[in-house]
Amino acid sequence: MQTEFTIRQTTVVCPQCNSMFATPTLLTMPAITPQTAIEADLHRVLPDPAIRAALVAMCPACSYTWWYTAFRPHMLQSVFVPPTPIADQPKKFAHAVLTGRKNGAHALDLALLALNGCWCAREAGQPHERWLELAGGELERALRDKNWQGNRDYYQYLLGELCRQSGDFQGAVNHFNQVGPSSMLPPELVERQKVQATSGDQAPAALPEHLVELLFCVKGKPEESVLPQE
Ligand SMILES: [Zn+2]
Repeated sequence: MQTEFTIRQTTVVCPQCNSMFATPTLLTMPAITPQTAIEADLHRVLPDPAIRAALVAMCPACSYTWWYTAFRPHMLQSVFVPPTPIADQPKKFAHAVLTGRKNGAHALDLALLALNGCWCAREAGQPHERWLELAGGELERALRDKNWQGNRDYYQYLLGELCRQSGDFQGAVNHFNQVGPSSMLPPELVERQKVQATSGDQAPAALPEHLVELLFCVKGKPEESVLPQE
């Protein structure tokens, strides 16, 4: 079983302009246990912003930025190709949102990128309020799309959490009230966050061990769900 996060430089090919470049990628990560730090907006708290930032890659030639998995790996050793110069980790997610907008990505994709930008900003010790706003706006837009077939109940919950963390407690309760059983979330979790919103508490909330276990450690529940979907 993996016990640590490891990152290594990998050579990839840009799907937009075919340039080759080296980008940090996440090689291993420890499995989730009930003691893993996970918050009520269902993200895993990572010990270094570089870990989350390694989930996206940015082409140094054309600035195309998207989930790392959209880039084709190349056998050429990474020392022979230009690396992505990134000084500020959360900024990668801002570039990814821009790329998504340029290519007409769905609002849910933009929301998930903005959410990761939000968490990455917190992991980097930066303000995250504008990221929360961006993610909430895009998630609202996704939910308004009648043709979108995603798990609406799950995202109603997530939007409720974003509203709560932004200080919009009434909005949070409204969204929590729309979470139905198809969210696959434990009713205790929804109730818990509703109570926190009602009491006017906007602080990020750590999940207790039994809920982490229920959500992420029970067999058959993919632990990847805390990380962004492609
Ligand atoms: Zn490119």
